[in-house]
Order: sequence, then structure tokens, then C-alpha cells
Amino acid sequence: MKKKPAKKLIEGYIYAQGSLCPACQSNQLDTGFPQPDQGALLMPIRCQMCEAQWVEIYTLTGIKDLKTKEE
Ligand SMILES: [Zn+2]
Repeated sequence: MKKKPAKKLIEGYIYAQGSLCPACQSNQLDTGFPQPDQGALLMPIRCQMCEAQWVEIYTLTGIKDLKTKEE
């Protein structure tokens, strides 16, 4: 069954930094391999408890600790 997660659910998921299943609140999550997608990274996640699956979306928000040869 496919259904679109409610906005509140997504906000809660992000607030918990992706550590809990949005369906059953379990923290037993399997992380897949990140896939680049038009400037974002898509990270497939699967819940071990209820077998829900979803995709985390990562976007570039900045860079830090730049080091060059001259330093
Ligand atoms: Zn779950």
C-alpha cells in the first residue's frame, strides 16, 4: 500500500533526525546506498520492525573545512 506521508509526520521525522520509523516509531532501521538525484542524495531506508520503506532526501546546505595544497 502506498500513501503519501502527512506533512506533520515528515516534520517529526526530520526533528528526530531520521532515527525513528515514521510508521511504528521503531529505531531498528536499515539504511541503503545513497543515490545522487539532481543535486540531492536519496537514501533508501527500511524499517526492520514493520517493513515500511521510504527514501530520505539530502540536499547540499553548505561546505566547511576547505583545505588546499598551499596551506
Ligand atoms: Zn516501522
